[in-house]
Amino acid sequence: MAEELLVTAGAGQTRQVVVGSFARFGAATPVMIAGPCSVESERQIHETADAVAAAGAHVLRGGAFKPRTSPYAFQGLGAEGLRYLRSAGRAAGLPVVTEVLDAQDVALVAEHADMLQIGARSMQNFALLRAAGRSGRPVLLKRAAGATVEEWIHAAEYILAEGNDQVVLCERGIRSFEPCTRATLDLAGAAAARQRTSLPVIADPSHATGRRDLVAPMARAAIGAGLDGVIVEVHPDPDRSVSDAAQTISTEDFARLMLSLHLPPRSSDLVHLRDAVDSLDEAIFGLIAQRMALSSHIGDLKRRHGMPVHQPAREEDILRRLAGRGQDHLTPAAVTAIWTAILAASRARQGHAARESR
Ligand code: PEP
Ligand code: MN
Repeated sequence: MAEELLVTAGAGQTRQVVVGSFARFGAATPVMIAGPCSVESERQIHETADAVAAAGAHVLRGGAFKPRTSPYAFQGLGAEGLRYLRSAGRAAGLPVVTEVLDAQDVALVAEHADMLQIGARSMQNFALLRAAGRSGRPVLLKRAAGATVEEWIHAAEYILAEGNDQVVLCERGIRSFEPCTRATLDLAGAAAARQRTSLPVIADPSHATGRRDLVAPMARAAIGAGLDGVIVEVHPDPDRSVSDAAQTISTEDFARLMLSLHLPPRSSDLVHLRDAVDSLDEAIFGLIAQRMALSSHIGDLKRRHGMPVHQPAREEDILRRLAGRGQDHLTPAAVTAIWTAILAASRARQGHAARESR
């Protein structure tokens, strides 16, 4: 009999993984994770965070513990990097994801990050997977460059087996015979993993291609393939990135990629915009109430001078003047509809007052 796995129960019905207050993997809108390969300085991560947040990213990334091929290469700022990342995310209003390399650091990373990343090189570090499963944080599990889809989902099973079902899979390219890209982006494997499990699946076109020029098209391809999001490396000055410069795009290119995706506004944006609309409605309400009060006084004068309440010529003047100023957001037709209603309410008020005074 086939092995029963927690990751494959409810396969095809993607469960939602929530990170921070508004990133929802597995919901209708793809989640966009952006930020530098490494947190390099307080300034660099704040600048990147502000730019990607303004462009509409949902989550900020940045490595503090870096898995480098050479032990002599920059290994990340460690705990200091975690603090910078967290403060940059908070300032920009974004939750943060960062890699944890060692089971011993899980508690520290979980304290600073909203989501833990298990890197490709750690995919079968079973002690780390179990520790991440017990961390209480959602986990982003990258596929190892040499792992089959089956091995990848079994790695996820280690996390679920600890009682944590908040797992997102990330395809980041596999080893092939083709040297023109850093790895080979296996979108079909990612789509297959999504069908085979109930977990959201995203793609990392930066590590998969290793090429800045291929990041945006492969990000669009991943979303076109129905994946639940994308993670991309972004830096304010990509050529100066201390790690993975060749695959890192600029903040401007990230903004262009976001525009090309036509995503709906983030729910946090929606909340802000609705707050702004609510305060405008308050102001409009106050102004209309003032207008009605003035109009009541006018009604008194009309009555005193024996004038009719309804004065069509005056109403037409008002409508013509205001409708003539109609523009893109407030068309002449909309102006006419709104002020026709206001004038009718005024007339009703004046008529009512006239009847009361009789
Ligand atoms: C990273 O995201 O910075 C990273 C090291 O990725 P991967 O584990 O996919 O190589
Ligand atoms: Mn990187």
